[in-house]
Amino acid sequence: MDRSKRLSTHFTLGEMIKSGTAARKGIDNTPPEALIPKLTLLCTRILEPIRQHYGIPFAPNSGYRSEVLNQTIGGSSKSQHCKGEAVDVEIPGISNYQLALWIRDNLEFDQLILECYQSGDPGSGWVHVSLKQNASDNRSQVLTYSNRQYHQGLVR
Ligand SMILES: [Zn+2]
Repeated sequence: MDRSKRLSTHFTLGEMIKSGTAARKGIDNTPPEALIPKLTLLCTRILEPIRQHYGIPFAPNSGYRSEVLNQTIGGSSKSQHCKGEAVDVEIPGISNYQLALWIRDNLEFDQLILECYQSGDPGSGWVHVSLKQNASDNRSQVLTYSNRQYHQGLVR
């Protein structure tokens, strides 16, 4: 699989499957070919609009995760990362709360979660966004995850 393959203008397959943990532990994080269209959709419909709006280069923190990788990092057993439907994002210099607000108000998504954000620390946490191929399957669910609990909406 060619990791340098461009899935959209600014994002490559390699960036969507990169994992420090996988590299350190020798875990194969190559996605099934069938998931490439879903990863491409995340690039074109989520990452590119964010890139265009802020004009700041970034690579996603985490995109696709194999089952083994997901278990190793303690991810949820139903993680949409394993289905190629979710990406975790942070933009250098932008508060994750502000980023989540912008996504909520401007993009179509299945689930948007502001994760582990600490009020008063703009760089804390990250933003999880998922998107399904079939538009009618997207739940437009907005959550905040902090102190091991989910809350409705974006909570600062
Ligand atoms: Zn995530």
